[in-house]
Amino acid sequence: MEIKFIVDNNVGKLAKWLRIMGYDAVLFSGEDDGRMVKVALAQNRVILTKDTQIMRRRLVTSGRLKAILIEGDDSKVQLQQVVEALNLDYQFRPFSICLECNRSLMERDEDKVRDLVPPYVFKTQKLYMECPSCHRIYWRGTHWRAMSEELERLEARNQ
Ligand SMILES: [Zn+2]
Repeated sequence: MEIKFIVDNNVGKLAKWLRIMGYDAVLFSGEDDGRMVKVALAQNRVILTKDTQIMRRRLVTSGRLKAILIEGDDSKVQLQQVVEALNLDYQFRPFSICLECNRSLMERDEDKVRDLVPPYVFKTQKLYMECPSCHRIYWRGTHWRAMSEELERLEARNQ
């Protein structure tokens, strides 16, 4: 079964990194820990948090609910911790999840995006993905390359 996450506000940057790698990671921005635990349980998500209280909950100590207590403040160090703990793949499914809303992206034909992307992008990129929720268009441009190079660096450090 595919691993999914619920990311606590206090380690919120992790959600974006996990989405870049292609993992389903919802961000929990509420205050009520109980609510986060409920969602995690209902949707079978691993909790990522800095909150030691959550780690002491019976559901977690009994092993019914998986939670990882995140150490350190650097989001890349945090990401390495999660990758190592769960044996994740930095190249799991890149370019497949909307970084803003965590929805699965859909492939779009070139001619459908002609008016939606800058002309210089249209000239150089062939593959486009669209978020069905926020309708953002994604392509493997310089921004995307920078992010995936960052992941490659982290991967190299782990080996
Ligand atoms: Zn979106």
